[in-house]
Amino acid sequence: MHRLRDVHAPAGMCTGASGVHEPGCARAGGRRRYRGRVTAAPQAEPRADVQAPVDAPVACRFCGGTAGDLVLDLGEQPSSELFPAAGASGPDPLLPLRMWLCAECGLAQLVGADDVTEEPLGFEPAALAAQRAAALRRLVADGVLPERGTVAEYPSPHGGTWLPELGAHGLTEAAPGAAADVVVDACFGLMHFPDQRAALAERAARLAPGGTLLLQYHCLGAIVDGLQWNALRHGHYAYYSTPAMVGMLAEVGLTATAAHRFPLYGGTVLLAATRDGRPTDALAAVVAGEEVTGVRDPAAVSALQGSVARTAEWLRATCAAEQRAGHRVYGYCAASRAVALLRVAGLDASLLTAVADASPDKHGRRMPGTDIPIIAPDALVAARPDVVLLFVSDLAAEVRAALPQIEAAGGRWEDAGAGR
Ligand SMILES: [Zn+2]
Repeated sequence: MHRLRDVHAPAGMCTGASGVHEPGCARAGGRRRYRGRVTAAPQAEPRADVQAPVDAPVACRFCGGTAGDLVLDLGEQPSSELFPAAGASGPDPLLPLRMWLCAECGLAQLVGADDVTEEPLGFEPAALAAQRAAALRRLVADGVLPERGTVAEYPSPHGGTWLPELGAHGLTEAAPGAAADVVVDACFGLMHFPDQRAALAERAARLAPGGTLLLQYHCLGAIVDGLQWNALRHGHYAYYSTPAMVGMLAEVGLTATAAHRFPLYGGTVLLAATRDGRPTDALAAVVAGEEVTGVRDPAAVSALQGSVARTAEWLRATCAAEQRAGHRVYGYCAASRAVALLRVAGLDASLLTAVADASPDKHGRRMPGTDIPIIAPDALVAARPDVVLLFVSDLAAEVRAALPQIEAAGGRWEDAGAGR
């Protein structure tokens, strides 16, 4: 496999090492652009007819700023939202998959590929429901939630809702479009909007006087700490650090008051904001934790890039070694984050027989960008796999409990991202 090139100095790109940037360079002339291509060395060559906007100017989805850095480039990838029928031959359409970090407001964001919308997901993992319950207990303990009043929820393609639990707490649903005492976007919905300023301003404007906005997101600090480069995917336009989010909220007239970081996905933050609140020590602690990671520092965030080839090579070598040993290798969870990982690792059905998923909508389909079919959990059990690579490590306890037959038959679960 080719070695990954440094994100800051891809071939043919001015590095500015001398302090002078060449014409057309990303940092020449005060207007920063990204150009040139850093590929993550996919085994299958990208289609030649795909026109990647390699020289498009970047404007921040929140502040409109043009200063910033490309911190992660996965080359061209299939949409993680398009699961072709199992019999559909490729190649699948490819789009550039890149993360850019705004130097002004600190928002990490997807650049380009604005026309991929995420399909609503019908299946919410139990891990997410458990996370919501834990977060709610914390809110109640903190006294952040009013005892009564109205709530308006912004839905998410990821599924899930806070309304039943908030209803049990004493809140009633606001009329459509009406101001609400609690506005909640806590199932990872906000990141799906290409225009981040408009989306956040809309939620802020929905607040009744004295109201509280609740946001929950997979924080950038956790993504960087965990080298979770495959959290980057089409349809997710923004990746929030808590320091950046505090500033973004201020821009739309809100003060972040409290935040708590939970273990889901290595770090999921629930944050509360009001128009006239005061920041708490709990917020400061979450902010400080992410500042240590360097969430505003492009050099720190681009540690993600350094992990790409390492993760992919480990996964491919693991599959190849198991196959040489005569073992049956399967995957579990046809998650969006598996798509780029499979492609960068160059896996196909000869190395990874199939990926099982609990969502019936995905059965009879295949993983995008490869010929690996998606099967039902029952079919996985029937195949008596020797190894099942788990693409969402947070689901380990859940799937081991749901499918005890795998281990009972001598198989083992393995974290597909163990090579990070
Ligand atoms: Zn910005």
